[in-house]
Amino acid sequence: MHKIIKDFNIKLTAKDILKGQGIDPERASQRLFETAEAVINEAEALLEPVAIYTVVDVIELDHQTVRFNNGEFKGSLVQKSMAGAAQLYVVVCTIGKALEERVDQLMTEDPVRAIALDGAGITALRKVSLTVEDIISKETCELGLSLGMRAQPGQEGWPIEQQREVFKLLPGNEIGMRLTDSCLMLPRKSVSFVIPRGKDLSDAKVPCDFCSKRDRCEWRKEKQIV
Ligand code: SF4
Repeated sequence: MHKIIKDFNIKLTAKDILKGQGIDPERASQRLFETAEAVINEAEALLEPVAIYTVVDVIELDHQTVRFNNGEFKGSLVQKSMAGAAQLYVVVCTIGKALEERVDQLMTEDPVRAIALDGAGITALRKVSLTVEDIISKETCELGLSLGMRAQPGQEGWPIEQQREVFKLLPGNEIGMRLTDSCLMLPRKSVSFVIPRGKDLSDAKVPCDFCSKRDRCEWRKEKQIV
């Protein structure tokens, strides 16, 4: 049984938008800061945030494979994230397609504004996913259980093709989403992830801790200032 969440209240600031662009707000030029401020209202109006999630019971963990009814997740990251889990939260979130369509339209006529709007979309998606994590965390706490490490198909150690398993569990079409043949999600500003639930799990580690790109990854450095 899945649940759909539509009740988000996503507010953006110029600093959020700069961070979404990968820019440290403390080092941003006045022009970039002003552009970020100028897109806040338009970005917020274009957001169509929605999430869908379900909880599946783990049947067994066999080396790098976690089995549940109707499917399995496979990969070294799967093993690191989901060992010891009794259930898995499987989640897909999106901010919808309106913002990315506007970015595509603006890219030729005003690329600076387009990039700022795109940054707003990245940071908004992050806020949507953190809101869902908060809901999951509260639910889990009320059950007296704990959460483990969040992981996403496409991160090192979990092949992107496993998005198909996620979309077998969740009817993405109910929130306007679909998977392409190459396993990319549409709308593009979307994210899927799994969070294990059980007794005595720990979320102290993150996938970056196990990733071979961690010392040179710009995205990871960027996340450290968000
Ligand atoms: S280090 Fe970079 S590539 Fe590796 S999981 Fe973290 S953000 Fe992703």
